[in-house]
Amino acid sequence: KNLKSSDIRQMYLDFWATKGSKVEPSASLIPVNDPTLLWINSGVATLKKYFDGTLIPENPRITNAQKSIRTNDIENVGVTARHHTLFEMLGNFSIGDYFKEEAIPWAWEFLTDEKWLAFDPELLYVTYYPEDTDTKRIWQEKVGLAENHIVPIADNFWDIGAGPCGPDTEIFYDRGPSFQDLPDGDPEMYPGGENERYLEIWNLVFSEFNHKPDGTYEPLPHKNVDTGMGLERVTSVVQNTPTNFETDLFMPIIEKIETLSDGKKYGENKTLDISFKVIADHVRAVSFAIGDRALPSNEGRGYILRRLIRRSVMHGQKLGIEKLFLNELVPVVAAIMESYYPEVKADQDFIIKVITNEEQRFQETIHEGMDILNSVFEEMNKKGETVVNGTNAFKLYDTYGFPLELTSEYAEEKGFTVDTAGFNQEMQEQRNRARAARQVEDSFSVQSPVWAEVLVPSTFSGYAETKISSELSV
Ligand code: ATP
Ligand code: MG
Ligand code: MG
Ligand code: MG
Repeated sequence: KNLKSSDIRQMYLDFWATKGSKVEPSASLIPVNDPTLLWINSGVATLKKYFDGTLIPENPRITNAQKSIRTNDIENVGVTARHHTLFEMLGNFSIGDYFKEEAIPWAWEFLTDEKWLAFDPELLYVTYYPEDTDTKRIWQEKVGLAENHIVPIADNFWDIGAGPCGPDTEIFYDRGPSFQDLPDGDPEMYPGGENERYLEIWNLVFSEFNHKPDGTYEPLPHKNVDTGMGLERVTSVVQNTPTNFETDLFMPIIEKIETLSDGKKYGENKTLDISFKVIADHVRAVSFAIGDRALPSNEGRGYILRRLIRRSVMHGQKLGIEKLFLNELVPVVAAIMESYYPEVKADQDFIIKVITNEEQRFQETIHEGMDILNSVFEEMNKKGETVVNGTNAFKLYDTYGFPLELTSEYAEEKGFTVDTAGFNQEMQEQRNRARAARQVEDSFSVQSPVWAEVLVPSTFSGYAETKISSELSV
């Protein structure tokens, strides 16, 4: 079928409306009354209040398209075909209403019926939790799926350690043998391991147990359904693109980046393609997040924004972009998303102002860093050294935000190398110092900005959920 991403989003909501679901608008990316989450990271994240019984929904059947941010996937962005920091999760939810017997055949109907997505059933595979024989039976008997398309997977059990949890069943689309060799960080993926041939498109979670503090599981009085389908992934299947990035959700951004680069074209060089993809991804996340009034800063959400912006700038440099450029991408994001998320367009000027200010600050930092790096090189030349020592590499990282990778690249251009082990040792020592400082801080409960300076950037570790802080190198 010839569908735009906006058609697919609407089709999903329409489909679930025909099943009696109330269509809810996307909530803000910033969680309300939920200290456990830094960002809304799924459709269900905004509906927890119904799942845990705090509130009774007007209608027990709900559907939505929810903007979501997952920073734990940042390393995958641009490397795999399917991961983003900001993505849209299409979801349908049942709060103690319909359950497996309906949810599974309905999902199948949406995917395969001529009226809806009309996917070829031969190309769909599902996984299930081995003990969840009901789910297997429903796929086999009610849906009529062949047994070799139904695969038991031991960790198909959705559980965050407390509260509602249960088995899930995930739906994969076979993109064909030509996708076999794409890189993939997820070796669990059915059935071939390290490849993206089998693309996970939809996860159906059946929360039927309560995980109690004593570690036991008791059946819930109400059985719930919580599903999530990535709009970008489904769109890549429908539009038959190699990755999510060639869809209409990203391509206009990438094309704009091409015009801003020094003549670089997308699709000609694998390494540069990663830079195109990272920028296109991050500028979406940053635009939406600022639209929801998160602002760059040295902690929490703001820290992540700062990192995303800086990372975009670094990748911009790889494409030969020297001037401020993120401001030019925001209107493109706004235009692509306008039909369902008018907030980006409405706040475009504000978003541009915040991003540009941050980008400018970072450009200045980079130029200072380049000056320092050049004087390091000069000094090394004088002494006849060829290895940038760990202390210098770390200083560039810590004070000027230079990732080790970047220092290495510049060093290579001069025929030098970098003492990575020395760098890592400095990093470790810095972490130890920060830990000690934090303990002092905790014992006095000081909220002094001085500590924030000391603890940022390389040592921020306030949120376990966000791997970004310790691993993102920009
Ligand atoms: P994967 O194994 O591919 O990382 P996941 O199992 O972590 O995905 P779920 O938590 O099951 O993902 O989320 C439900 C759906 O949301 C996925 O099936 C996928 O379509 C989509 N999704 C999850 N993470 C991302 C992401 N980082 N970018 C784009 N889509 C995503
Ligand atoms: Mg994942
Ligand atoms: Mg998965
Ligand atoms: Mg999943």
